[in-house]
Amino acid sequence: MNAVPATAVSPEISHWIGGRRVAGASGRHADVYDPSSGRVSGRVALASAAEVGQAVAAAQEAFAAWSQQPPLQRARVMFRFRTLLLDNAERIAAQISKEHGKVIADARGELTRGLEVVEFAAGIPQLLKGEYSENVGREVDSYSMRQPLGVVAGVTPFNFPAMVPLWMFPVAIACGNCFVLKPSERDPSTALLLAELLKEAGLPDGVFNVVNGDKQAVDALLDHELVRAISFVGSTPVARYIYTRASERGKRAQALGGAKNHMVVMPDADLDQASDALLGAGYGSAGERCMAISVVVAVGEKTADELAARLIPQVRKLRISHSMDEKADMGPLVTAAHRERVLGYIDSGVSEGAKLLVDGRGFALAGHEQGFFLGGSLFDRVTPAMKIYREEIFGPVLSMVRVADLPAAIELINRHEFGNGCAIFTRDGRSARQFANGIQIGMVGVNVPIPVPMAFHSFGGWKASLFGDHHVHGPEGVRFYTRQKTVTSRWPAPTAGGADFMMPTMK
Ligand code: NAD
Repeated sequence: MNAVPATAVSPEISHWIGGRRVAGASGRHADVYDPSSGRVSGRVALASAAEVGQAVAAAQEAFAAWSQQPPLQRARVMFRFRTLLLDNAERIAAQISKEHGKVIADARGELTRGLEVVEFAAGIPQLLKGEYSENVGREVDSYSMRQPLGVVAGVTPFNFPAMVPLWMFPVAIACGNCFVLKPSERDPSTALLLAELLKEAGLPDGVFNVVNGDKQAVDALLDHELVRAISFVGSTPVARYIYTRASERGKRAQALGGAKNHMVVMPDADLDQASDALLGAGYGSAGERCMAISVVVAVGEKTADELAARLIPQVRKLRISHSMDEKADMGPLVTAAHRERVLGYIDSGVSEGAKLLVDGRGFALAGHEQGFFLGGSLFDRVTPAMKIYREEIFGPVLSMVRVADLPAAIELINRHEFGNGCAIFTRDGRSARQFANGIQIGMVGVNVPIPVPMAFHSFGGWKASLFGDHHVHGPEGVRFYTRQKTVTSRWPAPTAGGADFMMPTMK
């Protein structure tokens, strides 16, 4: 399916540097699409290294004053930002839907989850409280504090154009850092809306900047000596690259990668609940969620047969429509190229011998024939050797693997390269406990299909789903964006004590 070409009137999606929109100067642009119609909706400027340098310079200039603002003042900006996000929620959700293609109700949910991080960041005075010990030695006191790093950067994926940036910058800014965001070039406009609202909330110019772009802009951030830390969320090959290159340059890095999330269904589970959970978690947002369930692990043949019998008619009945349709379950995929990629996976599953129970390949939406739509697909009898099992598909495709018992399910999941999320559906507490304790995955759900931690906990996977030590937001986010200093202080009486050449110990 070919996309409708760009027209001369496509509006430019610019950068945001030093508190204002700045037009692209590199002469490079990329088309941005409305996935529901397949039409080009704008042209995003792709920053050169020089433009990235301007954003970093603006952030560095703002840092001295911003880092000295009392945390309470920084928190008040977050409170005002929160109110503005709520006041503008419909506008932001519509913007997300228009460029990403997720349905409007889902876009509202994404914004809510992002807003919760702003609420968390508004508690920064409490979160930055240090520790104090009186008399660690005679008349010697010791205290620790956490201080901001300086200029920090975020590089984000297309699938949550509001929520993933909001995982990062509210915490970073509240800690006293200045931020440069490089959003996905596929849906870049939401970041600019957020930038405008931050300014309206009273954030000083330069504290938050947006550079749009591609690999060139990302490399310029990775190589810039004033960028102290990089947060990345995206695919695993890029996450690995970002983590390696940032670390080589002495930067702090957290790089969240791809996923292949399994949901184990035990024979004792409520199968109606389990199949409802699989539908939402497998096909919501057209499967373009890092916490989407893409593999159902049915324990026992009977469980698998009964699940398949429930899922087949429901997957066929999915309401697929354009992204502004309030009644739709899912919308189109993000681009024509991504749709082709997902189609390729379905073809590969068929050729490798998986059983295609529901085939979404023929789907077209009347009146939106150029949109990037795909129906829901369901595979059974998928095996670990198949490409559709090993690789992340990131589309509306659910694969069922059959295993004999819970230990086999745990072993299967632990062998997988990715370790983002997983879930078990069961009525048995002992099975749930065995699963939660033994599974090598960062986020685990018990009868919860998408166990995304709340803002005041931290989000992150294991294995090839996260490179770095810190998860995002919550207490780990505060630790990532600050460094600890410990002060040991003594106010001696004015008498000469003489030099002491031994290792200091308590006297
Ligand atoms: P992507 O890796 O293609 O792009 C992510 C970001 O990296 C974008 O800003 C992009 O411009 C930039 N980028 C792309 N290629 C680059 C390169 N070679 N060098 C430097 N920068 C580069 O990811 P995507 O397609 O936008 O997003 C989907 C992926 O993100 C999926 O794999 C999904 O699982 C993952 N994801 C993971 C999480 C998580 O929490 N682990 C959350 C959301 C999305």
